[in-house]
Amino acid sequence: MLPSRIVIVGAGQAAAAAIDTLRRKGFTGAIALVGEEDSCPYQRPPLSKKYLAGALAHERLLIRPPHFYTEHAIEMHLGRRVTRIDRAAQRICLDDGTALPYDELLLATGSRPRALSAPGADLPGVHFLRTVKDVEAIRGDCARARHVVIVGGGYIGLEVAATCRELGLDTTVLEMADRTMNRVTCPEVSAFVQAEHARHGVNIVCNMRVRAIAADASSGRARAVICEDGTEYRADLVVVGVGVAPADEVASAAGLDCANGITVDEFCRTSDPRILAAGDCCIHPSPHYGRRVRLESVDNAFEQGTSAALSLLGTPAVHDKVPWFWSDQYDLKLIIVGLNHGYDTLVMRGAPAQRSFSVCYLANGELVAVDTVNSAKDQMAARKLIAARARPSLDKLADPNLPLRECL
Ligand code: NAP
Repeated sequence: MLPSRIVIVGAGQAAAAAIDTLRRKGFTGAIALVGEEDSCPYQRPPLSKKYLAGALAHERLLIRPPHFYTEHAIEMHLGRRVTRIDRAAQRICLDDGTALPYDELLLATGSRPRALSAPGADLPGVHFLRTVKDVEAIRGDCARARHVVIVGGGYIGLEVAATCRELGLDTTVLEMADRTMNRVTCPEVSAFVQAEHARHGVNIVCNMRVRAIAADASSGRARAVICEDGTEYRADLVVVGVGVAPADEVASAAGLDCANGITVDEFCRTSDPRILAAGDCCIHPSPHYGRRVRLESVDNAFEQGTSAALSLLGTPAVHDKVPWFWSDQYDLKLIIVGLNHGYDTLVMRGAPAQRSFSVCYLANGELVAVDTVNSAKDQMAARKLIAARARPSLDKLADPNLPLRECL
């Protein structure tokens, strides 16, 4: 039997995809959406790029315009935080005391920035980047800043660095590991990306830990970032991008199984049959990779939001798409298809010097991931080959003149 009332917690990409699917497939029951921010669901990917650069209006971020939710009879509870899930009574409690009953609950709470544990991390002028409000605050500080220090050389750090350079700021990136993007790509791609940033005038410093952020005596704002080795980097703006953690506290407090995110099956069902979860907040079994994965990507939020809606409609479909991630930095479009974890062979297609190349990762002969830089054709072919568990010939793979789709 279909639920008569669905409550969705978290107003991001996964929630938007679920609402869209539910209404498009004819669900006429009640849907309530609870979101901590006071905005309708919006796209986060442009935040560290065009939106930070001031090249995109706020309305263009919205996944659907506000009237869509009225027209589709979505009960909106924006600017509200869920404090508790009462599983026995099947209701959630909000921070203003409201209790919302549910037949089925979808948790799409996303992730939160990891804190920087250093004295001074809470000074004015030090920012995280997760929400529209965060970016608006950074933009305000950018306007009067000359020296920006970015802590963390991951997606946020490098995209913000590219944007700050385009805005003409003196930019330094401090990365704790021995190379940037070390969790997601190989040393060859990290080296290429770092060289591109150096060419644009970004100072990337690896193997560097932050000890403290010092304040200006008169303004009380951040003045410099001080590292473990004593080096000081002048900073009138600091952006911290040191990773995220799943927002699973309320789920965990309610006794749902959690382990680095809310544990779900391949249909987005949690350990409570009345509760589902989708997006960054959950960890799911990947039939393709044969292990549990927690994916931090807008594509995954969309796929799992859709998959959760299908489960709610009683037409479950296994969520097993090959994941992909992208990053825009300057004129570079980096697309990572698949997960390279555990690869034993790496094949380069083309040369980084040409600024259009791909890197293929294989494990026991099977193609498991492909990183492409300014190479749209390879990324489309990569998705198909990885999904098909292709075992391409290494010689063919290494020939950039042979289309990737013909490498079998
Ligand atoms: P991230 O991509 O995980 O990168 C964080 C980086 O900071 C890692 O290289 C990490 O090194 C390093 N780090 C951790 N602690 C540090 C410290 N104390 N000092 C210096 N460096 C430190 O996370 P993110 O850049 O913060 O991005 C947050 C989320 O936004 C992610 O989910 C990401 O996928 C998403 N996002 C995605 C895109 C995109 O897909 N284009 C763009 C922006 C944001 P270790 O790996 O050694 O910990």
